[in-house]
Amino acid sequence: MAATPAPRSVDDVLELLRSRGGRVTSSRRVLLAALFEGGPHRTAEELAAEVQAQLADVHLSTVYRNLDELERLGVLVHSHLGHGPATYHLASETHGHLVCEQCGATLEVPEELFAALVRAARTAYGFVVDARHFAVVGRCAACAALPAGAPASAAGTSEPEPSGGP
Ligand SMILES: [Zn+2]
Ligand SMILES: [Zn+2]
Ligand SMILES: [Zn+2]
Repeated sequence: MAATPAPRSVDDVLELLRSRGGRVTSSRRVLLAALFEGGPHRTAEELAAEVQAQLADVHLSTVYRNLDELERLGVLVHSHLGHGPATYHLASETHGHLVCEQCGATLEVPEELFAALVRAARTAYGFVVDARHFAVVGRCAACAALPAGAPASAAGTSEPEPSGGP
């Protein structure tokens, strides 16, 4: 599967589905259109809402099943960007993620950023790192510049005045 290039259009995926004996249903077509037209980082629920806007009777569980199948076919990759639900990317448009634990900012970074880690883990432990599946968490540049514990989003909001008492 790794040798197969990731499909780059809805038609590519439909062709792949047919060649693997999969059915091309209207819910799959609408889901694929949503995936190719919208950006990355949408959750199954967000994608389901887009499908349901056009096909009201498609159940969330159908969307989950279709996402699973598209992932098995190598069309999609999911990533966890922190504590929330998985978010989906087209396999042709993947990248690594840095997520700020304080303000929630997500940076998309080239996978080459993790090349040294991938090489070292393989050499030292025989471990094959998947740098796309989970985000690397930490503090973004803005939050790192603040005193520990103060989120960037709270910058500028004034502290309550210490009251002198009656
Ligand atoms: Zn992403
Ligand atoms: Zn996962
Ligand atoms: Zn931040």
